[in-house]
Amino acid sequence: ASDQLAALLNGFGLAAKTPLSNWIDGDLVAGEGEEITLINPATGDALVSYRDAGAGLIERATQAAQRGQREWMALTASERGRRMNAAIRALEGHEEALAQLESVVAGKPIRDCRAEVGKVREMFEYYAGWCDKQHGEVIPVPTSHLNYVRHVPYGVVGQITPWNAPMFTCAWQLAPAMAAGNGVVLKPSELTPFTSVVIAKQLERGGLPKGLINIVNGLGKTTGAALTDHPAIGKLVFVGSPQSGRMIAEAGARRLVPSVLELGGKSANIVFADAKLDEAVAGAQAAIFAAAGQSCVAGSRLLIERSVFEQVTTRLARAAEQIHVGLPSDEATRMGPLQNRRQFEQVTRMIEAAEAQGARVLTGGKRPEGLPDDAQGYFIAPTVLVDVTPDMEIAQQEVFGPVLVAMAFDNKEEAIRLANDTRFGLAGAVWSQDVARAHRVAGQLRAGTVWINSYKAISVMSPFGGFGDSGFGRSSGLDGLREYTVPQSVWVET
Ligand code: NAD
Repeated sequence: ASDQLAALLNGFGLAAKTPLSNWIDGDLVAGEGEEITLINPATGDALVSYRDAGAGLIERATQAAQRGQREWMALTASERGRRMNAAIRALEGHEEALAQLESVVAGKPIRDCRAEVGKVREMFEYYAGWCDKQHGEVIPVPTSHLNYVRHVPYGVVGQITPWNAPMFTCAWQLAPAMAAGNGVVLKPSELTPFTSVVIAKQLERGGLPKGLINIVNGLGKTTGAALTDHPAIGKLVFVGSPQSGRMIAEAGARRLVPSVLELGGKSANIVFADAKLDEAVAGAQAAIFAAAGQSCVAGSRLLIERSVFEQVTTRLARAAEQIHVGLPSDEATRMGPLQNRRQFEQVTRMIEAAEAQGARVLTGGKRPEGLPDDAQGYFIAPTVLVDVTPDMEIAQQEVFGPVLVAMAFDNKEEAIRLANDTRFGLAGAVWSQDVARAHRVAGQLRAGTVWINSYKAISVMSPFGGFGDSGFGRSSGLDGLREYTVPQSVWVET
């Protein structure tokens, strides 16, 4: 491991030499399968190698989760809430090291990682509050029975997460699962294994039952498949690409296990000519270039009313050129590299294919200039493409990189038609000072989240999820909590 990474891993007890990459039944455990080598996204150098967990450790983790869950449910609901609140405080004093660990392995700017640690805390605090507020209902049935409904946990749930926001996604799904009374086996992306292990370990140190949360690291086709196929898993929650999501849902279907799928997007950001253009340009820039475009809600299609198309795209290109692209560890960095080689190659190929089909690069499209010498990793400059038609691959497929396509529209109907001309349906935005029109357009967008004169505002309190290829089911808020329980109807003869 690099010196910095070794110090961080050792600091958290994960043993840098052969990392103990799993948290199972209250213990750090090494994997048993093939070796997985992590590459530093910023430099391209090898970071560290660990071993795939495999089916044996999934078995151990699932058994531990069953025991932990029984212990958890033996507590009162208010005690579970108190324990969750106490557990999250066990991260105090470790925030900076956690942010650094995420920054090095995920290649994300350090300031973004610090903000993410704050989100982790928020998510646990929010769902801790739900523990003792999951009331059932009494139904006025037309017989002499007393009929009441309770919201009961599945037992053990399986969660699978991607590499783009590892800590955030981990807390986003762990917190509601626990608050609903479940034990968890979570498999992070094989590319970003460690921060979820650290979070689970610290939470347990903070007073959660042993085995309630287990983190098992490894490849999708081995460890991931062992998790989705395990007979003790009552529900699958998946965050990742549509391709893998389909496999998870199929694995669930084979065992008749339900799933929640939080998948990708190709979100439209609609700018009308009457919008406050300064704000719209700033919003459009943040929508696509934050996290180097590796965000499921990235505003990757900018639809601009024709009369201001030239002005908006020119201003946006200038703004994109001002973004400080650099090493994740640099405090000034606002955009880092792509996380991995596969992603870098995909983004590069998609830009080249778009150009071959007639799209024009207004800015970016290649490695940024002026990077430090050691930044030999997966950097691509903020990119804006024009002369794009809706049928091009670049206008239809998720790029998951810092690539914006801009297209013009002539009227509201065309804007709505273009926005909905995608298999995805995760998010979208409308920029206009005509608020009534903005509401009407929002109502016609087939997207799980719509912003008006804003982009990317999200909260753990508000439901989040997609239509179509962006998946199904909801995370966050009460809807996200309800995904982790089943209504049980009880009839009492009176
Ligand atoms: P991915 O689908 O390649 O991998 C996601 C996870 O699935 C990883 O942990 C991987 O190991 C696992 N996996 C892969 N195949 C599997 C299998 N057969 N069985 C079990 N597990 C398997 O996705 P990625 O490249 O890590 O992440 C990027 C994608 O995630 C993008 O499409 C992005 O839009 C999406 N995403 C969506 C949201 C959301 O909330 N909607 C949030 C973040 C990322």
